[in-house]
Amino acid sequence: MTEKQILELLKNINYPGFTRDIVSFGMVDNIAIDKDTVEITLSIDTKNNDLKSQLTNQITELISSETDKLKIIVNIQESKTDKSQTIKTNKQAPTPKVLDNIKHVIAVSSGKGGVGKSTVAVNIASILSENYKVGILDLDIYGPSLPMLMGIQEVPSFTEDEKIIPLEKHNIKLMSFGFISGNQAPVIWRGPLVGRMTKQFIDDVIWGELDFLILDLPPGTGDVQLTLSQTLELTGAIIVTTPQELAVLDVKKGTDMFRKVNTPVLGIVENMSHFLCPHCNQKSLIFSQGGGKKESERSEIPLLGQIPLSQALVESSDEGNPFVFKFPKSEITSIYKDVVSKIINNIG
Ligand code: ADP
Repeated sequence: MTEKQILELLKNINYPGFTRDIVSFGMVDNIAIDKDTVEITLSIDTKNNDLKSQLTNQITELISSETDKLKIIVNIQESKTDKSQTIKTNKQAPTPKVLDNIKHVIAVSSGKGGVGKSTVAVNIASILSENYKVGILDLDIYGPSLPMLMGIQEVPSFTEDEKIIPLEKHNIKLMSFGFISGNQAPVIWRGPLVGRMTKQFIDDVIWGELDFLILDLPPGTGDVQLTLSQTLELTGAIIVTTPQELAVLDVKKGTDMFRKVNTPVLGIVENMSHFLCPHCNQKSLIFSQGGGKKESERSEIPLLGQIPLSQALVESSDEGNPFVFKFPKSEITSIYKDVVSKIINNIG
């Protein structure tokens, strides 16, 4: 058996909890065969030992089912290795960080408006903020909703050298076109100005040290997305959709766009998936089902979670109090927690 054949075999092993395999995730660092021993080195930033042994067992079983001539050693390391590679896997070079003070920049995007993208962005950021330093940058220039969702409407102040000081609420740093335009959507803004504003919000806001900057992108694939992909290396993108087939068509456009600009799509969140009765907790399937799941399977992008329709979610958004803070023990909050832990596992 050759190293190439083993790499092919490893494409059958999905990262636990995901529908995507460890090779396409870029987790396979090295495969080296020396006489009767194959040594496989994975690079995964997780401290979860169960997950490590699950992967080790799966790999060992799979290779031994193909050959009994090789002794198999699986090394799982937490940081990337510099060891010269016996064969090149399809792992991309680590992306240079354009923003040294921000560890991960994650874009939340959707094919069209009204699918709950901003709500998802705010609740993901809120869960993250319980353990990390987090900022949200609302780039949804034509419908900035961060002021409403976080219940804050102030004009940010500037430093003497004209840098913008972000607002802060619930321990999350916030910046939105809405703070500046007073929520009057500047519908007449066109490409170059949108591009300049987008760049300014990235370059001139004093974010400080952040673990995560969550970007709430405008729907679709327009000027902001273009400027962003030229300005900033994103850690990855999350795509929000509702389950209907029509919305899913737009997701396909989004995943294709991110792939073109070499931004990894970390996963799909299906919002307003079903109705969870607040009285009896019964699940009703209102819309056509499984759009996000189908798209996830087609595009081999993990489905991070399915969030039900919920009146309480709408109310907490309208009050400017993120749902996951208001109802920390609810089922929807645990779905959000699961989404966030998948994101963290995924980016390593
Ligand atoms: P987008 O950013 O995609 O335009 P928003 O996050 O602004 O969407 O949400 C659009 C509307 O849908 C808002 O009124 C919001 O409260 C509501 N909404 C979002 N998620 C849900 C959900 N899971 N259940 C019910 N309503 C929701």
